[in-house]
Amino acid sequence: NKQLRKAVIAGNWKMNKTRSEAVTLIKEIIPLAKDADCDIIVCVPFTNLETAVEAVKGTNIKVGAQNVHFEEAGAFTGEISASMLKEIGAEYVIIGHSERRQYFGETDETVNKRTKAALAAGLIPIVCVGELLWERETGITEEVVSRQIKLDLNGISSEDCKKLIIAYEPVWAIGTGKTATNEQADEACALIRGRLASLYGKDVADAVTIQYGGSMNAQNATELVAKENVDGGLIGGASLKAADFGVIIKAA
Ligand code: PGA
Repeated sequence: NKQLRKAVIAGNWKMNKTRSEAVTLIKEIIPLAKDADCDIIVCVPFTNLETAVEAVKGTNIKVGAQNVHFEEAGAFTGEISASMLKEIGAEYVIIGHSERRQYFGETDETVNKRTKAALAAGLIPIVCVGELLWERETGITEEVVSRQIKLDLNGISSEDCKKLIIAYEPVWAIGTGKTATNEQADEACALIRGRLASLYGKDVADAVTIQYGGSMNAQNATELVAKENVDGGLIGGASLKAADFGVIIKAA
């Protein structure tokens, strides 16, 4: 059923690149992405969104944000709404990245609210889930990821669920250079698809893009994305180097 889905390669730039640096990097990525079979997204800092949207015009690269607030508008100093992102030309938004869960108090409840707000505004959420190291070591990965899927998608319709991208990102693999094995990645993505099937039915589950993320790079991408349940990747560090990101795009 992998054939039903198009792989999606998304770069998560995190808090990197000023506006001028963003233009340089995007210009380097464009020719490397040109003939790709996969969908390509760059998730840039808020301050680079408008510039990135302009820079990718007429190319096969799409732009995403890295977070969104769940309220529509109002007294929420420092926050950005889904409609603000939509109007500026962002098409995707990363939600519930482990760094947001870890450093900024993100919970499954707020991930759920943000996901609903993004969908309501017509953005495609990239919802991140994944277990901590101790959770894997104590054998509760399945339980943790299943709970995240259930809570993060609570109240989301089948129709909306089909639009989602889910990124399985084991927290111990993020930024550590310690990639999950191909089998671990495949197994976890299959587990997520199984949860989706029990919540929404097989047809919906088969339609959802499920990426792997966590130290994916130019060396390991080919084997990871070849796995039956891995529909591309969410790439941090390696998305900041055009040549490496280009190799990953070609692998997908
Ligand atoms: P990494 O980050 O590729 O640098 O491990 C992945 C992510 O945080 O999305």
